[in-house]
Amino acid sequence: MKEQPSIDTAHGPLALPVYFPDATRAVVRSVDSRDLEACAVRGLVVNTFHLSTRPGAGLIKQAGGVHAFMHWDRPVASDSGGFQLMSMIRENPRYGTISDRGIHFVDLDGSRERTLFTPERSIRVQFDLGADLMICLDDCPSPDASRLDVEVAVERTIRWAGRCRAEFDRLLASRAGRRAGPRPLLLGVIQGGYDADLRRRCAEGLRPFELDGYGFGGWPLTPAGDLAADTLALTAELVPDTLRFALGMGKPEHIVACYRMGWRIFDCVLPTRDARHQRLYVWNAARPDQADLGTPGFYHFVYAGDKKHTRQMGPISTVCDCPCCRDYSLAYLHHLFDIGDALALRLATMHNLRFYTQLIELLAR
Ligand SMILES: [Zn+2]
Repeated sequence: MKEQPSIDTAHGPLALPVYFPDATRAVVRSVDSRDLEACAVRGLVVNTFHLSTRPGAGLIKQAGGVHAFMHWDRPVASDSGGFQLMSMIRENPRYGTISDRGIHFVDLDGSRERTLFTPERSIRVQFDLGADLMICLDDCPSPDASRLDVEVAVERTIRWAGRCRAEFDRLLASRAGRRAGPRPLLLGVIQGGYDADLRRRCAEGLRPFELDGYGFGGWPLTPAGDLAADTLALTAELVPDTLRFALGMGKPEHIVACYRMGWRIFDCVLPTRDARHQRLYVWNAARPDQADLGTPGFYHFVYAGDKKHTRQMGPISTVCDCPCCRDYSLAYLHHLFDIGDALALRLATMHNLRFYTQLIELLAR
C-alpha cells in the first residue's frame, strides 16, 4: 500500500483520502460510536446549524465538546451551517433573508423570532463544538441562479471568509496555552457556480486568508443530474497542495472520479439513508481489491426487503467484513426489516458504511 498523506488533528492523525459519514445532529442515525469504529470510520461531519438550535452549542460546550458528548474520539468536521439555512430560505423566502451582515432566519420552533446567523457566530459555534476541521460560512446560490447572483455570492463568500478567519484567529489566541495539541483547521468554500471565471475569482479572493484547505461550494451535479466534472476538476486545480473537501459528495462512482481530480475528503448521507430504505451496496467482485473502480458497474444494490431473500442464509455479501455480514444472514436482516425491528437499521447502516470505507481504502492503495 502506498504511503498516504495525513493531517494532524487534536484527535489523532487523519489519513487521506477519507470518507466522513454525516452525524448531522451528533449521531449517525441508528449506530453509535463503537459501531462506527467497527466499520473503520475515521471521522465524522456534524451540522453546526442543527446543533446550535438543538441541543444548543452551550450545552455541547458544557459536555466537553461534541467528541465527549457523543463518545467519539476521532476527528470531527463541522460544516458552517449556511447550506441548510440558505436552502431553506431559497425554497421559501418566508423563512428569512440573506444580506452582507449574515443570514436572518425565522425560528420555526414556535417562537418565530428572527435570528441573525453571522460568519462570526458560525465560527464561535464550531469552537464550542470543538471541531477539528471548521468551515467558513459561505453564500451558496441555487443551481439555477443568474450569473449576477452567483457573482454577488462569490464576493460575499470572500468577505465572509475574511470575517471567519478574523474570528477564528481571535478565538485561537484567546485559548492559547489552555489546550495542548494541534489547533483546529479552517477551510474556505469556493463558490462560482458552473462559471470558470467566477470559480477563479473566488479562489483568488480567498487566497490572502491563508486557509488550511478548501471545500467545493455549490452543486456538484449539473441540472441534468450528471457530475459537474469540468467545474470540479477546475476547482481542485485552483487550490494546489491543500486539503480539498468535496462537500456532500457523493455516489461511489462520483467519489472515484473526484478522487482522481485531487479531492481527498468526502461526506455523504447516501449510504446511511439508503440503509434505512433497505438498499445495500454490494461489490461486483470476488474480493473488494479486485473491483474495477474504472468501470461504473463495480457495485450493485441488494434490496433487503425483497421477498427472494427470505431464505438467503448467507451474508449480504461474502466479500464484506462488516459486523452484519460477519455474524448475520441476509434472511435474518430481511426478517428484521419485515417485523420493523430497529436492529435492521443498525445492521444495514453498518454494512453500507463499511462499503464506503472499503471504497476509500481501495482508492488509497
Ligand atoms: Zn457487510
